Amino acid sequence: MIPYGRQHITDEDIKAVVEALKSDFLTQGPEIAKFEKAFAEYIGCKYAVAVSNGTAALHLCTMALGVDKNSKVITSPITFAASANCVRYCDGEVYFADIDPKTYLLDINKVRSLLESKPKDYFQGIIPVDFAGNAVNLEEFRKLADEFGCWIIEDACHAPGGYFNDSKGVKQNCGNGRFAELAIFSFHPVKHIACGEGGMVTTNDESLYNKLIKLRTHGITKDPNLMHKNDGGWYYEMQELGYNYRITDFQAALGTSQLKKADAGLIKRKEIAQIYFDAFKNNKKIKGQSGVVEGHAYHLYIIEVDQRKELYDHLRSKNIFCQVHYIPVHTLPYYENLGWKQGVFKHAENYYKGCLSLPMYPTLTKEEQSFVIEQINNFLNV
Ligand SMILES: *Cc1c(COP(=O)(O)O)cnc(C)c1O
Repeated sequence: MIPYGRQHITDEDIKAVVEALKSDFLTQGPEIAKFEKAFAEYIGCKYAVAVSNGTAALHLCTMALGVDKNSKVITSPITFAASANCVRYCDGEVYFADIDPKTYLLDINKVRSLLESKPKDYFQGIIPVDFAGNAVNLEEFRKLADEFGCWIIEDACHAPGGYFNDSKGVKQNCGNGRFAELAIFSFHPVKHIACGEGGMVTTNDESLYNKLIKLRTHGITKDPNLMHKNDGGWYYEMQELGYNYRITDFQAALGTSQLKKADAGLIKRKEIAQIYFDAFKNNKKIKGQSGVVEGHAYHLYIIEVDQRKELYDHLRSKNIFCQVHYIPVHTLPYYENLGWKQGVFKHAENYYKGCLSLPMYPTLTKEEQSFVIEQINNFLNV
């Protein structure tokens, strides 16, 4: 069976987890701080907060930024539902803007039009997504956000190691906190770095960092500098309503070990992307191929075809399990019940009709990829 994505666990990873399991700590031990430090270094940001999954990371971000029932936040319709749900967890209102049909990223011009269509302080935030691993130009989004007094949460789940070149030609890593208040990552097994379940928030903002640390563990602090009094060694204060969004120490140990292979994985992903691109570039029936993009982390390799369902079923019959990323979020029944409907985002909906994510993971062999390509070509009759 060839899936669209899968984890790569080595003996070194297993050893790291076993060592953590044999230590004194299963949760909240030294491995978490180690993982956070290594991840912050890898991304190039000041602070990293490890949490139980990417969705928890998003929720902590909307809480830390004070999203409430009066908040209105814009995100992309082509993303995993969690990018929008994090606003709903805090009772905020989600708005969508259409994607750019070439990059599949949230179209900054559409976001501008939406911002301009309402009074100046109507929206509080924007959640751009580095979709498929393609880095959003956050320098441009920052300018726009500043014009309208909005914060930015970068959903970088698809893009650890991805980057864009800013207007001065400087590489800006996804999640480095240079242009966004907060960024989030997921360590679900289909993402680049696997912890089983796991997530991370990155930021350069110390006060947001302190909020995240507290909210991750019930809103409780044991820091004597932050407490109103101190009854003794046992004493802690719950100062606001938080959650238990902690990751375990053995998951963090796995994350640190996985991180060591992250760059090698990126190189492999890029090679796979190049092979797909070369194989399909002259095929008129395959759309949506724009060459191998610099700074793209290739979490996904997506093609667009007219007979998507038939191709999907054909590949499945050959034990190739492709996937569709994503069903436009505004057309999911939950969001339809909130008043969104089909037909409002032409590019997102058009994209959804033809998109297919092909197998893309570092351990995909040349033979497996050739088989995938052959089956696609056979089906499309070229
Ligand atoms: C995976 C993913 C999430 C959620 O991460 P989990 O760890 O599964 O909770 C959020 N946003 C995007 C874009 C994702 O791909």
